[in-house]
Amino acid sequence: MKFGVFLYQPEPVEGVDYNFYRLKSESGIVGKVNPEMYTNIACFGDNYMAAKRPDWVSVSSWGPALRTNKRYNLRWDVVCMTNPEAREYNLKIIADCAKVSPGISISSQHFADQHFCTCPRCIEQQRKSGLKWLDWRAKTVTDFLAEVKEKVPGNPLFVNCLPDPLMGRERFGYDFEAMAQYTDYFVIPMFSKAYPTPWYWETIARGYKSFLKKPVMVNFYVRGPNETWDTVAPADQIMTVATRVARQGVDGIIFLAEKAEYIREFQKRCVANKEKREFLKGHNGDEVLELFDRWEKMLK
Ligand SMILES: [Zn+2]
Repeated sequence: MKFGVFLYQPEPVEGVDYNFYRLKSESGIVGKVNPEMYTNIACFGDNYMAAKRPDWVSVSSWGPALRTNKRYNLRWDVVCMTNPEAREYNLKIIADCAKVSPGISISSQHFADQHFCTCPRCIEQQRKSGLKWLDWRAKTVTDFLAEVKEKVPGNPLFVNCLPDPLMGRERFGYDFEAMAQYTDYFVIPMFSKAYPTPWYWETIARGYKSFLKKPVMVNFYVRGPNETWDTVAPADQIMTVATRVARQGVDGIIFLAEKAEYIREFQKRCVANKEKREFLKGHNGDEVLELFDRWEKMLK
């Protein structure tokens, strides 16, 4: 089992197998690649481009793919994924990063949600394809992934999929079987500001693990941008949920933080909580407990 961190600043941390840098998060701001870190790129979730180019925003009969559309739970604004300019823009960033980065991770490489996208270009592309609506959407997502994979020759490609193992095809256009051909690792973000009920996260992990044909990693929220330690889950909740998800057979766990300093503090807090580490023994998630042991040695 592997461990990683998912950071918004290009400074890596020690004590994990993978350091991911969010070079382009859904804010749309593009940073500078760090060759020491794996690079994450959010593709069509892009607040910056949605504001700059309102004509790029994905649309539906239920309104646009904007955070202000309350009929959906959109965490960011989404541009239409069949827009050739948006595709080229993201593919170029991916290709440039892949030349220097040890691997690439992509996010929001899919449709915004159910009913998207019904812009004239998407309607026309579907009509020409002769495929049914859901089949066309799934093929569109898979084809984009194939293009991404071509830009990342020889290096691992991590593909993030939103945490819905049941309705991913209808909502986002995920055809997991087809996507697995171009994916080296699936990553399931499990972001929450609190993890008091690990049962649900275990359920999602178990579901994904039951059918994905490539290794599965999950990602937990330690401390993202604009948070304090009081607005996020206490370390002991993350220790528990990580151990409980590990026992469902996931292949890796990633921890999200704005910067390296917050991961170092999180590592300290995990190591210091001897009582929780003892309690978690016997849960069948020992690899997480061994990670805390390694952090303890590292921090001495
Ligand atoms: Zn469209």
